[in-house]
Amino acid sequence: MLSAMAAEQFPRAEVTEIAFLGRSNVGKSSLLNALVGEKAARVSQTPGRTRAINFFSLQDEKQRPRLMFADLPGYGYAKISKSISAEWPKFIEPYLEQRDTLELCICLVDSNIEPQPSDAQLFEWLRAAGRKFVVVATKVDRLSGNERTRNLAALKKGLEVEQILALSAKTGYGVRELWGLIEEAGIRD
Ligand code: GDP
Repeated sequence: MLSAMAAEQFPRAEVTEIAFLGRSNVGKSSLLNALVGEKAARVSQTPGRTRAINFFSLQDEKQRPRLMFADLPGYGYAKISKSISAEWPKFIEPYLEQRDTLELCICLVDSNIEPQPSDAQLFEWLRAAGRKFVVVATKVDRLSGNERTRNLAALKKGLEVEQILALSAKTGYGVRELWGLIEEAGIRD
């Protein structure tokens, strides 16, 4: 019932979609701004107070739909009880399971914070669901070179991921590389 209702609220699936996921305050809005700025138009929003999915449509130079970005609600906020954060993947399940055009999940983790169980839980879920994802470590401008190396290694180990892309929405570091991954996902056969 929930899944059927939720799926109907999504905009028409016609172009490659990229989803952005991460704990609250990880820097997701800042990254989306750094990636698209004014270029994307918000096309729709699934209902439900703070737990909405925001869809952004990106167009090519001829104004044809080219890519869709889906901004998924933040999870694991410290003030919310553990049970609610455990519930989060369930809320988002209909989207992650059913969205045919979803080609890549961009999962954000804060490079300044030690590996979080809620992130590990999400990655486990995505692996089991067979969803392709990349992990991006945000706010690296706050770290010295040594700290960056150390924290990224700790995140890889703690979250059991092989690659993490270091990024700063503030300085733009890593944004071009992330665009490269997005463009790659957009080339479908
Ligand atoms: P969201 O809740 O995930 O959408 O996170 P926001 O984009 O609102 O960012 C949360 C906080 O982190 C804000 O105070 C931002 O200014 C800060 N922030 C986000 N990205 C960066 C970054 O690349 N560098 C630094 N130093 N701060 C950042």
